[in-house]
Amino acid sequence: IPSKLPNISTSIFSVMGQMAAEYEAINLSQGFPNFPSDPALNALVDQAMRDGFNQYAPMQGDFELRMEISKKIENLYQHFYNPETEITITAGATQAIFTIIAATISKGDEVIIFTPAYDCYAPTVQLFGGKIVPIQLKPPSYGVDWKEVSDKISSKTKMIIINSPHNPSGMLFSEEDMLELQRLAEKNDLLVLSDEVYEHIIFDGNVHQSASKFDALANRSFITASFGKTFHNTGWKMGYCAAPEYLMKEFQKVHQFVVFCVNHPIQKALATYLKDANHYLKLSDFYQQKRDFFLHLMEGSNFKIIPSKGTYFQMLDFSEISTENDIAFAERLTKELKIATIPTSVFNEGKKDFKQIRVCFAKTDETLAEAAKILSEL
Ligand code: PMP
Ligand code: GLN
Repeated sequence: IPSKLPNISTSIFSVMGQMAAEYEAINLSQGFPNFPSDPALNALVDQAMRDGFNQYAPMQGDFELRMEISKKIENLYQHFYNPETEITITAGATQAIFTIIAATISKGDEVIIFTPAYDCYAPTVQLFGGKIVPIQLKPPSYGVDWKEVSDKISSKTKMIIINSPHNPSGMLFSEEDMLELQRLAEKNDLLVLSDEVYEHIIFDGNVHQSASKFDALANRSFITASFGKTFHNTGWKMGYCAAPEYLMKEFQKVHQFVVFCVNHPIQKALATYLKDANHYLKLSDFYQQKRDFFLHLMEGSNFKIIPSKGTYFQMLDFSEISTENDIAFAERLTKELKIATIPTSVFNEGKKDFKQIRVCFAKTDETLAEAAKILSEL
């Protein structure tokens, strides 16, 4: 059959994960923790199964969980989402992103993304006939030039996708960035998809600027978040989407035919677990310790490193170590030095202009020490 995505091959996260296993390498590639999720949360899932929550959940998600999410967002960002009509529980942020795009993007619509960009945005837009308009964020700051964004908006622009804290650079949007985005979105009547999966992993006293904090922006935004990132269980594939009612209505029209609903016992467990805000408010300190531990071990290495400001990723610039492109370098690291990382050209439409690899530091201190020992000797 003619391919609907002729230029797409297997995701880099599968490729590097498999290579890591094949060469028995320390796996700092795909973003997931190598330590367990909280036994207390696991026990709540067990309990929910024993309590009989083993059949379909409501299409929008368990109501108690939607209420807890609504409370969390209101406490943190002072914006109220009606749990009846403005929140849907999804199979991870990936399904939310797919559903948002499916519900809004039609043939010919233009969607602005900032590259390097997480890998699922562009193919999903293309699948629905949309056109990606990329805007390159340049190292070391990865800051946004809002004049350039304004210049690239056309009468066909339908949506801007943002992601702060940003995978893979660890960059954050400031309040000024969000106000600029709000101004442009209002002026040009644009939708915004705000990927906030790393909202609780933010360092050095910085504050997360959720799109929900800015009323006019919230009124035209879909926000997505991921429990997998927050509670150390990426394999559970649980997340949510929050949006004003007129957008959520369209989202749910699609959601009901993509999955109908998602894992019921885990939703019940998350509803209870979310009641204690410490379960997510302590996450930044937890990961800051890991980032600092890793960076300390990498002091004096030949990689050029700008400390990540959020997410559990750190970019390493290898331009003083090798002239290889990022893919060749990452492959060699995996095969010969037994460390798997992610080459970042995959986030840059395949462009190999930046000599950078991404490492995931959601790992035990032991793993980080082992990896840093090898990397810092390069
Ligand atoms: N967005 C970004 C920026 C991510 O890094 C990830 C990876 N988890 C996702 C979305 C997808 O999240 P989930 O695993 O909840 O589908
Ligand atoms: N979000 C994870 C990362 O960036 C990977 C998720 C996936 O495998 N698609 O590494």
